Amino acid sequence: MVYAYFFTSFDITAEFLIMPELIPVFTKDEIKSMVLSIAEKISSDYQSGEIILIGVLKGAFIFLSDLIRHLTIPVAIDFVGTSSYESGTSSSGDIRLTKEVSVDLKHKDVIIVEDIVDTGLTLTYLIDYIKSFGPRSVKICALIDKQERREADIRIDYPCYSINKGFLVGYGLDFNENYRGLSGIYQLKF
Ligand code: 5GP
Repeated sequence: MVYAYFFTSFDITAEFLIMPELIPVFTKDEIKSMVLSIAEKISSDYQSGEIILIGVLKGAFIFLSDLIRHLTIPVAIDFVGTSSYESGTSSSGDIRLTKEVSVDLKHKDVIIVEDIVDTGLTLTYLIDYIKSFGPRSVKICALIDKQERREADIRIDYPCYSINKGFLVGYGLDFNENYRGLSGIYQLKF
């Protein structure tokens, strides 16, 4: 595992070297065109004013940074941090805030940008947290909508990809802090 992660800092050859452990799910080019199409939709829905994107650390940081570069409307950003997976791939179900918002959300149009919605418990917690600041609206943008283990009834306004199950890494997503730098998304083989 350490050996594989060492090579991920380099180039496409490095991703090839670790393929025996990872199943490709979405390529860099597929993600690029998906992010562009979601950005166009958001830009068209909010033509009348500024929006605030709240990225959920750490997994959404690459997705958010690509997304804002394709938006054609004024946008401010902030991040929140949550923790529920102590390590590995199973949710503890115990959501903790590790970083609070630091911009004024009152009367603002907010979009929470999440990497993966799995059980939905993190987003349920975050929606309540964001709403406590009195925004005008709160919507959800998620890179991956993973449905098999869903426990909370979550409406994802801007979903990119939908999968049924599997533990994904790459494009910001980690396994024990590894693999975030891969430009594609992969399913981790166990
Ligand atoms: P939920 O509260 O919806 O069960 O979990 C959401 C969080 O769990 C995500 O923000 C992400 O950090 C983590 N997570 C859920 N599924 C995956 C996955 O397949 N891969 C990775 N890397 N993280 C996941």
